[in-house]
Amino acid sequence: MKTVDNIPDGRDLICAAKYENLANDTRPNPGVPLDLLPIMPKRADIRSSSMGTLQKCSRRYMWEERYGLRRAGNYYSEALSVGTLSHILLNSLYMGESLHTGVQKAVGYIADKERAILDQLSGGTKTLPGMPLDKITKGMQADLSKSHAMVNGWNKFIGPRELADWDVLAVEPYIRAKIPGISAYIAGELDIVMRHRRTQELRIFDHKTTAKSAVQRAISCAWEPASTIIYPILLREVCAGGSNVEVTVSKYGFGDLEEIRLSDPSNVTSTVHNILRKPTISFCNKDKTFDDYLDRVADRYEQDMKDPLSAPFVQSITKYHGHPLELEENAVKLREIDRAAVAKVDIHRFPRTMSSDTCTAYGLCPLAELCMTQNVAATQWPAIITGKFEQEYRSPDNILT
Ligand code: SF4
Repeated sequence: MKTVDNIPDGRDLICAAKYENLANDTRPNPGVPLDLLPIMPKRADIRSSSMGTLQKCSRRYMWEERYGLRRAGNYYSEALSVGTLSHILLNSLYMGESLHTGVQKAVGYIADKERAILDQLSGGTKTLPGMPLDKITKGMQADLSKSHAMVNGWNKFIGPRELADWDVLAVEPYIRAKIPGISAYIAGELDIVMRHRRTQELRIFDHKTTAKSAVQRAISCAWEPASTIIYPILLREVCAGGSNVEVTVSKYGFGDLEEIRLSDPSNVTSTVHNILRKPTISFCNKDKTFDDYLDRVADRYEQDMKDPLSAPFVQSITKYHGHPLELEENAVKLREIDRAAVAKVDIHRFPRTMSSDTCTAYGLCPLAELCMTQNVAATQWPAIITGKFEQEYRSPDNILT
């Protein structure tokens, strides 16, 4: 069996995580105390994704949310890239723009990313930690083709047709609010806020993309803290017009915030999860033109729509009943993350996950290197943090990246 003292490459890190079951290792940390690290922790905002992280692994929560650690350099993730690009396309359609306009904005987003990477290039080497620029650009261009075909198919068979009875009041508002009884700020970016013309009901739209079953994704969405706790609290706070509420609108969106502030908070009643399954077909030499590719993907979606269980597009509604914190279960979850968001940072308060599968669930966890060194040489932490990580907290400026 491999030991954690001798880890030559990433594959062995995975083996170590699986077989050593580090989560159960309760030996005291012999290395540097946290206050000798080259970075300082901060109080964290409460966000839906950080609630998920805390539940899965509180040590990862500590590194990512309290210390703001991200791997330095440029990394590319198809899931993140398709998610971001398709949000830009979908939001254009909900703002009454054409898909063509959305694609132009998405091209601009890729160009912005390229410029940001070029700005960071040093010494004229065209190499950064992480991935070379041309690989990232090529990946994002392929993702834009897929996202374009996916949203084109969605628009053909589903589309923002509900808008006959609804007004879109905001697209991509980033809201940060403080509520009584909770020490940390609550924050999040809503995709769309709509108001029904007759009933005045306020509805949140939340776009999701998936590589697997849209039906299964819809079921899991209904339990996500964003739908049931975070988003309704944030929107209610904007309606209530309190002084502890900040709203910033993304450059890909807009917001008629005055109209939201005039609404009754109790009119915030539901979230619609707008789920799109990614195409399995790529643009290739089978397609004479890009339009042929769009048609080929749309034909496949049409076939799949004949079977409800394999439907590629699903819109499912999560309804709220009263204030989210009237549900004891939600209040407990919120108080739990509030304690973690403001507590004095101490590694014994933030233990590693009890399931080593969590460390490898979506590829190897980016914090694995720090975890692996804990019991052999935590004195390496300062050097690993300085050499391989940067401190960057989530904010409206980097929320799309
Ligand atoms: S490597 Fe595993 S234990 Fe360490 S932070 Fe990541 S998920 Fe948690």
